[in-house]
Amino acid sequence: MKYIVVSGGVISGAGKGIVASSAGLLLQSKGFVVTTIKIDPYINIDSGTMSPLHHGEVYVTDDGGEVNLDLGNFERYLSTTLQRSHNITAGEIYLDIISRERTGHYLGKTVQVVPHFTNAIQGYIERTAKIPVDESQAEPDVCIIELGGTVGDIESSPFIYALAQLRKRVGKENFVQIHVAYVPVVPPGASGEQKTKPTQRSISDVRSAGLSPLLVACRCEAALDPGTIQKIANMCSMEPEQVISVHDGSTTYHVPLLLEKQNILGILCEYLDLQLDRAHPHVEQGKRMWDNWVYLVRSQDTIIDTISIALVGKYTSNKDAYLSVSKSIEHAAMYCHKKVRIIWIDAAHLEEETYRTSAVKYHKAWHDLCSVKGIVVPGGFGTHATGGIIRAITWARTNKKPFLGICLGMQLTVVEYARHVMGIPDAGSQELHPESKNHVIVYMPGHNQENSRDTMRLGKHPCIFKDGTEWSKLRSLYGPPISQIEERHRNQYEINPEMVEELEKAGLAVVGKDPTGKRIEIIEIRDHPFFIGVQFHPEYLSRVLRPSKVFLGFFAAAAQCLEKI
Ligand code: GLN
Repeated sequence: MKYIVVSGGVISGAGKGIVASSAGLLLQSKGFVVTTIKIDPYINIDSGTMSPLHHGEVYVTDDGGEVNLDLGNFERYLSTTLQRSHNITAGEIYLDIISRERTGHYLGKTVQVVPHFTNAIQGYIERTAKIPVDESQAEPDVCIIELGGTVGDIESSPFIYALAQLRKRVGKENFVQIHVAYVPVVPPGASGEQKTKPTQRSISDVRSAGLSPLLVACRCEAALDPGTIQKIANMCSMEPEQVISVHDGSTTYHVPLLLEKQNILGILCEYLDLQLDRAHPHVEQGKRMWDNWVYLVRSQDTIIDTISIALVGKYTSNKDAYLSVSKSIEHAAMYCHKKVRIIWIDAAHLEEETYRTSAVKYHKAWHDLCSVKGIVVPGGFGTHATGGIIRAITWARTNKKPFLGICLGMQLTVVEYARHVMGIPDAGSQELHPESKNHVIVYMPGHNQENSRDTMRLGKHPCIFKDGTEWSKLRSLYGPPISQIEERHRNQYEINPEMVEELEKAGLAVVGKDPTGKRIEIIEIRDHPFFIGVQFHPEYLSRVLRPSKVFLGFFAAAAQCLEKI
């Protein structure tokens, strides 16, 4: 196993995830099987309980793991399938050690950060690295470890110590590091100077922590000047080739091309003794994938036709809260050879209440909503802003705007329909409107709360298209022979099965259900250009080179090219 550690310095959010995924993609393009591990040094066991406003979205794996959103980047770029164990948290390892301590595993010993915690980290890494991540089920050749936070944080130091130990054990030829730093321009703008001091400092921090980066990837607005590269190389005793410029491009999908141009593949392969010309079983596949990637990214640069899509949500102040949704829209746009402009609308601004406190915000939100070609309402939890979401859904339904409601978005679609089409004014969701006497959305039907510790439906589950739904716009995208699909879930509430007959009679068709037939997965209005609600989260299975059919249908309807798909 070859390990590539991607660490970060200077500031968080400099793009470690994109650098890690891009390096992975380049190795995959040469036929290597690449896996990843995201290390989160915080004490939470997983991302499930963290606020999307502070921490970005909770990404969900096939096996129901609620994990760091960076695993999403990796799955999207490399089209791999990761598991919950690919996200390692300090909390999870501590929990494991503490429960073993309680059952006498360490009897007589003092349990310490070094060696118990740091050895456990290495054990987790080495076990997880071997898990197959693609259809071939082959053991990966390379494992990219992304270390969360920035080097120098108190909580990441045991992980750095553990990685330094791992390097010693597996040998230098099996372990390299890419350090992602940030080069600010002062004063900002064209006349500014690229400042290297923060990068120098952070490399010295990494070295004093016991690691030694092979490459330093410098995030910067414009390409690093040759003088800047030389200066970093001189001050950090590196060769200029080891200093990589990761400057802003038209999209983040250009980063793999940018890294390739700077020969990082050659450098990584040389240091890790990976044979580029070896007749690897996946070489052909890797080459095809790379050719498709390059074609897709380059052709994007020549497109001018731009479609604007509104994303109406509760957490729009942090765009990462809807990372997979916005990326899925981009995948669909690239497939349709269009550009996309996502208009972020805070659902609270669509509410009457905002009109009273800030008419400007209210008018802007409604102006934005009215000007777009399609509307997406993604998932979420809690009552806040749901009134505004319902208003947006009414607008999309009555104005025949292509619409996609995901999870909470689907649930509120049913509430809206029951209230405004079926004439049940207090129709509501058990989660959001506990006082309602007419719950169209209820706590997981058929779920035995007493016999299960699960309070949420998570991970990949099948959805079966109902007989007689061949007319469905969504279904036709999968092709008629397909009667079953699988998608990832993250929800507690679902459509009340007792309401289904009435909903269908009123024109809201059920297109897909789970195999028990009790859980409604897809709803659709037939007499509408595209109006779909899905209980699952199609955004978790959309890939750059394989966009989700749900998003594809929605986007194509918005771009008025659905019949060409
Ligand atoms: N809060 C809703 C539920 O629990 C929707 C969840 C979601 O959108 N992910 O079912």
